[in-house]
Amino acid sequence: MRLSDKHLKTLREAPKEAEIVSHQLMVRANMIKKMASGIYSYLPMGWRTVRKIEQIVREEMDRIGGEEFHMPHVNPAELWKESGRWYAYGPELWRIKDRNGREFCLAPTCEEAFTDFVKNEVSSYRELPLQLYHIQFKYRDEARPRFGLMRGREFIMKDAYSFDADQEMLDYSYGLYYHAYENVFDRCGLDYRIIEADNGPIGGSNSHEFSALSDVGESEIAYCTECGMAATTERAECRDDVPVKEEPEELREVYTPGTKTIADVCNFLNIDEKRSIKALMFVTYDRDLNPDEYVCVFIRGDRELNMIKLVNALGIPEHNIEFANEDEMGPATGIVGGFTGPVGLQNCKVVVDSELVGTVNMCAGANKENHHLMGVCYGRDYTGDIVTDVKVLQAGDPCPHCGAPIKHTRGIEVGQIFKLGKKYSHSMNATYKDEDGEDHEYEMGCYGIGVTRTMSAVIEQHHDKDGIIWPVSVAPYHVWITVIDASNETQMALAAKLEAELEKQNVEVVVDDRDERPGVKFKDADLIGCPIRITVGKKAGDGMVEYKLRREQEMSVISADEAIKAAKELVEVERFGTDHIRMPEFRYHNGRKIK
Ligand code: ATP
Ligand code: MG
Repeated sequence: MRLSDKHLKTLREAPKEAEIVSHQLMVRANMIKKMASGIYSYLPMGWRTVRKIEQIVREEMDRIGGEEFHMPHVNPAELWKESGRWYAYGPELWRIKDRNGREFCLAPTCEEAFTDFVKNEVSSYRELPLQLYHIQFKYRDEARPRFGLMRGREFIMKDAYSFDADQEMLDYSYGLYYHAYENVFDRCGLDYRIIEADNGPIGGSNSHEFSALSDVGESEIAYCTECGMAATTERAECRDDVPVKEEPEELREVYTPGTKTIADVCNFLNIDEKRSIKALMFVTYDRDLNPDEYVCVFIRGDRELNMIKLVNALGIPEHNIEFANEDEMGPATGIVGGFTGPVGLQNCKVVVDSELVGTVNMCAGANKENHHLMGVCYGRDYTGDIVTDVKVLQAGDPCPHCGAPIKHTRGIEVGQIFKLGKKYSHSMNATYKDEDGEDHEYEMGCYGIGVTRTMSAVIEQHHDKDGIIWPVSVAPYHVWITVIDASNETQMALAAKLEAELEKQNVEVVVDDRDERPGVKFKDADLIGCPIRITVGKKAGDGMVEYKLRREQEMSVISADEAIKAAKELVEVERFGTDHIRMPEFRYHNGRKIK
């Protein structure tokens, strides 16, 4: 590919709104261009990498028996009403109407489409398990689209669905994807962790997230260096502290003027925050978004509330709850803003964190302006309508499995796999017939990879101050040949030879033959970051070139033939990404397990 007749318009400066490196570099390298918030055009250099990542994903899906589909982006509302997600998904679901007023959505994932297909097209256990996938644009009207491709409103996802006869088969399918995902992210050159995750609105019972480690990642990961436990902080279980053993004291009211926060009141009364109870007030909404009920949550004063655990405990979607207006809530329930406690509430659902069970002599709001209660005992003075773990596992807390101190890090969720069980097959009535002709609902799994988000994650992990440093496996091109003086026939002839020889070996080549200063060309080569750089300059007459890897500092002067050989060998070894491919020990054929 000759640059002189192609469109490439790199930028010195990134736009101000680009807050993270991957976003800045993709815009500067002319790989993407914003059209609207969270919606991007992919330009030739960027699109090549997207397609390379897609191809890696495709190969690994095909390797585990995946069948590639392409389902519609536009889905009829009826399908989504059948599964119930039309109501549960909330404002992220991009809803549209046709000219006749019929409702549709732009698919954010495709459980409904695939379940409906299998329901109508598949009937026998002999066809199971099925691994169906597609790679396509997805639509989510995200509340905060940002960070370029990291959180878009239009983005590319590979989503796969397994249809299994029973739990054992689902375990098998789940395992296939687990390993296929390791292969995919290894091949993309990512440093990632596999962590236990929350199922979120997709539902089901078991899930893992594949998270590329990065400070700009939006998922917070709690992990243990002792036993290897790793979970999103949304999901991570907590080990409750053992309550202090004391004789229960009498409940008594104390005057605590102006002490509206836990820190204020504990300072004022000179007690440890661990001996106080924190209150958080919410209002929930029904599926038509009418106010449903008030919720008061109580946790130990030094703890943070985990919203995901809370909505899971309440059994509602995340978008159907918000902080209550305490002044409005007061008259009905008895709470008093800043002085709310669990004793004597009415007309609200009380959620108590499990750690408070068995605690005695705690301090809590008295539901009276400027007053707190001391000597508050669980069981005697209050209980909860729901008593469960609703707190965040914080750094330094004991690991829920082994007790060692927990550490926190951040990651970019590049993929997630879920065991859905019968959630969709049940609501959409999708069944198969077993050997005896009896009907059973499918066990299902769903498995997503954010293709465009993976591209961002690769750049976050592979760059320096000058630009991107692509791994060979996902680079837009393998070799970048800079011709110092494109008007010089000797230099152009050698560049053409290199180009032709390398392309013959399936090595992808850019020849920068633009009429630009060498400095400009070198800067662009570094910015776009193809892995191998060959410079053709003054020594072209002797058949000599400069050869350098983008990821290394050293440059060597070698013959053009040596450069071709070196480039070819490197690309051959690294284009696949890794030779560490994992395969299952057995497989299914016609519904039966075989070795
Ligand atoms: P997040 O928690 O980041 O919102 P999610 O859990 O909603 O993601 P899934 O439904 O599991 O996402 O989607 C599968 C994959 O699609 C994710 O692992 C992620 O890589 C990618 N993805 C999800 N939302 C976006 C988005 N808005 N922009 C780009 N990629 C996304
Ligand atoms: Mg997810």
